[in-house]
Amino acid sequence: MIVQDVINHLETLAPLAYAEDFDNVGLLVGDKNAKITGVLATLDTLETVVDEAIEKNCNLIVSFHPIIFKGLKKLTGKNYVERVVLKAIKNDIAIYAIHTALDNALQGVNDMICNQLELINKQILIPQSETIKKLITYAPKNEAEQLRTALFNVGAGNIGNYNDCSFNIEGLGTYKGNENSNPTIGEKDILNTEEETQISITYPKHLESKILKTLFKTHSYEEVAYEITTLENKNQNIGMGMIGEFKEAMEASSFLNHVKTKMNTACIRHSDFTNKPIKKVAVLGGSGSFAIQAAKASGADAFITADLKYHDFFIAESSILLADIGHYESEQFTKNLLVAYLTKKITNFAVVLSKTNTNPVKYF
Ligand SMILES: [Zn+2]
Repeated sequence: MIVQDVINHLETLAPLAYAEDFDNVGLLVGDKNAKITGVLATLDTLETVVDEAIEKNCNLIVSFHPIIFKGLKKLTGKNYVERVVLKAIKNDIAIYAIHTALDNALQGVNDMICNQLELINKQILIPQSETIKKLITYAPKNEAEQLRTALFNVGAGNIGNYNDCSFNIEGLGTYKGNENSNPTIGEKDILNTEEETQISITYPKHLESKILKTLFKTHSYEEVAYEITTLENKNQNIGMGMIGEFKEAMEASSFLNHVKTKMNTACIRHSDFTNKPIKKVAVLGGSGSFAIQAAKASGADAFITADLKYHDFFIAESSILLADIGHYESEQFTKNLLVAYLTKKITNFAVVLSKTNTNPVKYF
């Protein structure tokens, strides 16, 4: 197994196409064709984590946060970022960062937080739009079923809990090939009228190359007529944050105690208690002040996130309980998620959970 094989698994869980624009995800250091000896999963790639990888014979570090974020102009070991990259290169260790691709994934960072807190009826808090595409194509009537099936098999036609969704209209297609053409049905220079089926089918944007490859491979025409459009529909399977609910509502203080225990956090900064019990909870691992309004609009009784500033707490306006549990604390179980996922997919080498606590924030 090579590095690229592990990347393929990771990108099935969290396609990079859904990472935020500001982010720097994917393979940051190393050779995608290198043979894997072991994988180490971590939240941050620090020098101590590279040391741990060397010690545990792992030549691929799968990191949540990207160690290279703004770009590197020099590589002299002057700061911790440069030293990590140098150490990784010297020791033939590859570094892959998954970050906001996993934040936006359905079974990603926020799903993990919801599970940890025992929230049910989970949904994405801020679903992404413009990630669903629509393909319209025209196939000879007797080939339509085969084409639909081929497209379904590579991931087209999934809407919520329904698979194999498509819409089909029968009609007449016309075409006349020029002298350089070689029509599958009909003859060049003669107008042909053919009974065809117009097939409309949607797919997530990261599957586009697969879908088109399948279309061209399966369709029998020399020239395949097709149209692609991007839909504005919200994608309920991709996006930042999550909202879920407790089976039973709890008082604010019990809620914060529950969060403290389950999220293994030493202290929680929070806004005023509201006068309602906590049942519906929005969560967003990492810096989540941008989602306060979305959490309020979703009807959540509380919003658990990190990196809230003084003025952010005012936005609660006694209608939601804002809880800042710490950036590291909110994302700490992400490495467990990566290990659990890769262990299911990979059996011929070890996927190791990093034991290094990379939290730069200490509490006194
Ligand atoms: Zn983070």
